Amino acid sequence: MTLAKDYYGTLGVPKTASQEEIKKAFRTMAKKWHPDANPENREAAEAKFKDISEAYEVLSDENKRRVYDQTGQVNFGGGSNQQGFNWDNFSHFGDFNDIFDDLFRNFGGGGFRQQTGNQRTSRQLDLSLNLSISMAESYKGTRKEIKYKRTVDCTNCHGKGLEGNDVRTCPTCNGTGQERVVQQAGPFRMMNVISCRTCQGRGYTGSTKCHVCHGTGKQSEVQSKSIDIPAGIADNTQFVIRGFGDTEGGESGDLYILVNVRDERGYKRLNNDLVIEKEISFPEAAMGAELEADIFGETLTLKVPAGTQPGEVVKVKGMGFPHTRGVGKGDLLVRVKVVVPKKLSPTQKELLEKFSQETPTKHSWFGKK
Ligand SMILES: [Zn+2]
Ligand SMILES: [Zn+2]
Repeated sequence: MTLAKDYYGTLGVPKTASQEEIKKAFRTMAKKWHPDANPENREAAEAKFKDISEAYEVLSDENKRRVYDQTGQVNFGGGSNQQGFNWDNFSHFGDFNDIFDDLFRNFGGGGFRQQTGNQRTSRQLDLSLNLSISMAESYKGTRKEIKYKRTVDCTNCHGKGLEGNDVRTCPTCNGTGQERVVQQAGPFRMMNVISCRTCQGRGYTGSTKCHVCHGTGKQSEVQSKSIDIPAGIADNTQFVIRGFGDTEGGESGDLYILVNVRDERGYKRLNNDLVIEKEISFPEAAMGAELEADIFGETLTLKVPAGTQPGEVVKVKGMGFPHTRGVGKGDLLVRVKVVVPKKLSPTQKELLEKFSQETPTKHSWFGKK
């Protein structure tokens, strides 16, 4: 013997409730206790949902309701065996359809299981390409013309893939390209969204394929775009140009451009500083000198102070790369390389010997004579 169940209490209706009231109560309760509406508390909701469905199965059927009213129980299995309620006994799955519709509308996109459709998200419409510039261009800034291919809606059929007089909004999906199908998932019916089977997700029906795109609704387009690259841009910097990705159904993705700065012989970048190396002679290092340095095609005069040591760095303020964010510039760092002559003329040797005699040093520069 199973314990008598309070079906009226489960649905919250009086014993005198009409069919209309019972149905209304069931819909309210089913929406409230559907497991998909209670993700935090799924198991309890499933049990409750089953109880509500059992109560509705009995009270919505005048015969079952009469038996229940008289005996306090219902034999679902037939025959002499007492059978409890299971989902095979439920005859109102049809009522779930509009309940689900309400439920899933309220839950937006999050409440149901999404299946792959033809509709691409805006993320998938994004394009990316690489752009290589020289270090000189990153130092001065530049403007680059880029050309790339993107996919856009066919201009002849506006993405419908069809042409002719009989092109109309798909009656199955009302133009959304999506179809909701109810699928059995265990005891529950799940609402799944799939690509519309009538129109293959296009949202339109018709008998003639578009002759331009051959029914794909898409066209390839070469896009040209001029891009201003600000001075100071570092290697591996990404730009985004909104709306220049692929276009589908009037929605456009973005174009991502990854800028690579090529190495250039004789120049190095250190944060925003530009580092170069400059060879000077020993007398220039000792006495100071004015030197000319080529900075990406422009001649810059440098002052090397007297007494500059080999490897020492002479800084020229504000001659580095501009900061791309904020104001100001890095510095130019000139690493001084003192070149020692490998061969000396007799006069040079004589002079250096004199120099040596003037220099208080512990050992002779010229070794033993
Ligand atoms: Zn359709
Ligand atoms: Zn077309």
